[in-house]
Amino acid sequence: MITYTISMPAPHSHLFHVRIEIARAETGDVQLSLPAWTPGSYMIREFARHVQEFQAADGEGRPLPWRKVRKDGWLVAAGPATGVVVSYKVYAFDLTVRTSHLDGTHGYFNGANVLMYVHGHTREPLILHVDPPSGWQVTTGLTPLPPDPAYPHRASFQAADYDELVDCPVECGTHRLLSFTVDGVPHRIAIWGRGNEDEARLLADTQRIVEVQRAMFGGLPYRDYTFILHLTDGRGGGLEHRNSATNMVDRWTFADQYERYLSLTSHELFHAWNVKRLRPAPLGPFDYQNENYTRLLWLMEGATSYYDDLLLVRAGLMSEERYLQKLADEIVQLQSQPGRRLQSLEQSSFDAWIKFYRPDENSINTSISYYLKGALVCWMFDMAIRARTNGERSFDDVMRYLYQRYPIEGPGIPEEGAVLAAIEAIGGADGGLRELYERYVTGVEELDYAAALAVVGLEPRWQHRRPRPDGQPPAWLGVNWRKQGERTLVAAVRSDGPAYEAGVYADDELIAIDGWRVNEERLNQRLLERRPGDTVRLTLFRGDALIEVPVILAVAPYDMLSLVPVAAPTAQQVQMRAAWLGRIV
Ligand SMILES: [Zn+2]
Repeated sequence: MITYTISMPAPHSHLFHVRIEIARAETGDVQLSLPAWTPGSYMIREFARHVQEFQAADGEGRPLPWRKVRKDGWLVAAGPATGVVVSYKVYAFDLTVRTSHLDGTHGYFNGANVLMYVHGHTREPLILHVDPPSGWQVTTGLTPLPPDPAYPHRASFQAADYDELVDCPVECGTHRLLSFTVDGVPHRIAIWGRGNEDEARLLADTQRIVEVQRAMFGGLPYRDYTFILHLTDGRGGGLEHRNSATNMVDRWTFADQYERYLSLTSHELFHAWNVKRLRPAPLGPFDYQNENYTRLLWLMEGATSYYDDLLLVRAGLMSEERYLQKLADEIVQLQSQPGRRLQSLEQSSFDAWIKFYRPDENSINTSISYYLKGALVCWMFDMAIRARTNGERSFDDVMRYLYQRYPIEGPGIPEEGAVLAAIEAIGGADGGLRELYERYVTGVEELDYAAALAVVGLEPRWQHRRPRPDGQPPAWLGVNWRKQGERTLVAAVRSDGPAYEAGVYADDELIAIDGWRVNEERLNQRLLERRPGDTVRLTLFRGDALIEVPVILAVAPYDMLSLVPVAAPTAQQVQMRAAWLGRIV
């Protein structure tokens, strides 16, 4: 049996004190490792760099020799000792949903950051004791154990195995706890921090989100659910877990940005089905020391991103108009990334570890987001299936089919063929959906937005965000700018634009156009006076060198889109749109 005890005697030090008691039948060396990444956030982060003061002893407290065998691995020469006690501290001062943060106001940790696993014992039940400062409560999705009178401040939990232990982040502090039930299943919202939230509205809307997702899948997949909500000074993010999620939003989000809270909450909850239970074979049980490669993140994050807002519409928490505008904005975003012609959804999924999670100035030219394009492609399949089945089936059925077919107890979705097979099982196997899959998932063909929109009686209306007064196409440089103090720098040069051809580099500082000083706004004004085909002279600082680069302006691509109803929709289009966006009572 492995028992973890985590305490925080000096929160201002940001140090979690960890003690691992190992009671074992075998003898010999004990090997421990701290994960290099945490599931849901696909990047090697080397959490072991925050470990300090590692010690080992036998059951009687006699020190045992140990040495490091990897950057994240420790080997204790325990010899014949069957009782081994390991202790160490972890520095935790990184406030994100995937890391750990301890200060005078709270202690938040993800197990993968702080709890080492003992080799050979990861599939066994584990105990976690949490000893917070007095006056703090402890909230987590782990199964609680009865209180121990000997430790009045202690909260104790059990986990079926190490995967469960680290899949249940823990919030310690004086947070508020709101609660509601759906189908008799308890849900809690643990709120750290304060802002302009309206508790009653938060509670009602979160419950509504749970109800609508439960309706889609036909039941809730967990015994209880905990939303850990961090209200911060501008930071955001979310991370899904099997029966909890950590969501982080700016504390002032709840007035004019409330939709962000709703979308994030909807997104992370949807993961309780999609990725925490229905999952690709490589995503659980996990290899915590190395990259876990899958070509299916586009379905895990794409379908989740597709349904997060769509289900808000069906819940009555987002208007159809707003939803269609967000969908249009996503289309514009994908179409403004030349990388869509180079990197497929499968490649983007596979390389998440080195590309999506580690973006740089070249990313827009070589890669896409499997969230963004994944959501759009799920929408494409949704529209295609509705059209092919006369509205009788949809991508909802694909998700339900996959969820039934690949339960949590099983080995997960096979990497090859299984998702296409599910889509064809729902929408027909005559080859049409396979062709879409090959074009959009394994291939890099342009998405046919007009065809998808026509199914629900909409059409795309492309425009220029900054139109020329005379209605002619505006001229374009193909540069994304960023501000650094008063300076305007090249953030990225689009490989499909004229500045790329002319040799403008990332980080060049904008000084002037045709001899006149400009910032980004003035540059855009000047460009409106020029025509595609004109040559402009850009003055730039490249490092310390002042240079001039002539650029032949191109025709600006459309960068604004509205999805508008067709003039005379058919009865079927009206019906399809209602089935797609209609409110669930
Ligand atoms: Zn997600």
